[in-house]
Amino acid sequence: MKQHESLPLIPVARAAGCWLYDFDGNRYLDAVSSWWVNLFGHGNAHINAALRDQLDTLEHAMLAGFTHAPVVELSERLSKLTGDKLGHCFYGSDGASAVEIALKMSFHFWRNSGQPHKTDFVSLAGSYHGETLGALSVTDVALFKDTYAPLLRASTQVQSPDWRLAEAGESPSDYALRAARALKAHLEQHHATTAALIVEPLVQGATGMAMYHAAYLVEARKLCDQYSVHLIADEIMTGFGRTGTFFAHEQADIKPDFLCLSKGITGGYLPLSVVMTTDAVYAAFYDDKVTRGFLHSHSYTGNALACRAAVATLEIFEQKQMVTANRLFSAAISQSAQRIARHPRVKHFRNTGMIWAFEVETSDPSFARNFHQAALSKELLLRPISSTAGNTVYFMPPYVINAEEIELLTARTLELLTP
Ligand SMILES: *Cc1c(COP(=O)(O)O)cnc(C)c1O
Repeated sequence: MKQHESLPLIPVARAAGCWLYDFDGNRYLDAVSSWWVNLFGHGNAHINAALRDQLDTLEHAMLAGFTHAPVVELSERLSKLTGDKLGHCFYGSDGASAVEIALKMSFHFWRNSGQPHKTDFVSLAGSYHGETLGALSVTDVALFKDTYAPLLRASTQVQSPDWRLAEAGESPSDYALRAARALKAHLEQHHATTAALIVEPLVQGATGMAMYHAAYLVEARKLCDQYSVHLIADEIMTGFGRTGTFFAHEQADIKPDFLCLSKGITGGYLPLSVVMTTDAVYAAFYDDKVTRGFLHSHSYTGNALACRAAVATLEIFEQKQMVTANRLFSAAISQSAQRIARHPRVKHFRNTGMIWAFEVETSDPSFARNFHQAALSKELLLRPISSTAGNTVYFMPPYVINAEEIELLTARTLELLTP
């Protein structure tokens, strides 16, 4: 809050498409999709209409012992998107809760299966899985974790397959396989006490858009099978077409045991998350004894308005063939961003689907803040991430950004790099 003495809050009056507007007539291009949640622009006509209709039908009803059309339709559509391999949905209201649910469910599965010693979790170095106590315990971003460390349960971080860490001459896939050998070494020793490995597939977002080769996921799946460890895919950021396929894990042609979704699920309209899992996990909880059932009570689970927004979001994917359309679109943005990639201050320019990122050489210790502020003066909403890997600027625009807006985004970013 103190920093806002020099960088005042911007009151948003309204928003449309990729733009936020303040009360003084200024506008800001939402190039980070309002923290990675918005998919089809602000004030999307299709989602607005669906929500208006839902508001007049049913806003919310408890889901314990009851059900309703939006939650059933959403669950069936999501199941289909996993090839019906992850056909069981448990709803929460935010990403961190989804991670808590997946961790608890994995632990409880092993307990119900006569393996109560499988209580530990493994995540990747630099991973981000949310900031409630359980989710924070598998997160590995020092800024968010260090202060609260005394409250957290221990977990293990294994080498990240982030290709920026590769040796000279080592390809991203070679490096991914090397990182997978580190995972193997850990599981070989600790599988008897390990419940699950949790990963952000293909892109580790909050650590600074670390991108890695799908070969890591192929190996991780094999190792988890070999050592009876669950694979939790945290696709809270990477899901819903962000990486070029509907789910990022599709690019490794694997299925996780648990799939966590949130952020883009409602098109950026309402808080909602879901954990999807397999028949095998479901079956381990199906019992007369309540204590063998999954215990996680949650007031707003399956909220009808949020589920309806999510159904409307999936309808847009279907109607606009969005995953295919995004491939062309991604190529156009990459083309426009080439001039940034060539800039002498820019390192590690990279792209996965609808995410672009690069490091900027700077001696400014407050680079992230200052760049954010300078970007605002050029009508851009950008939120760089500073980490041990460098000062990362990234673009994660809504899928409706048009050619003129792309040009504005890359041209003005270039201006910011050349003061
Ligand atoms: C944002 C995020 C979360 C946490 O979601 P919240 O809704 O902010 O709690 C968890 N995992 C990943 C990969 C995320 O990007």
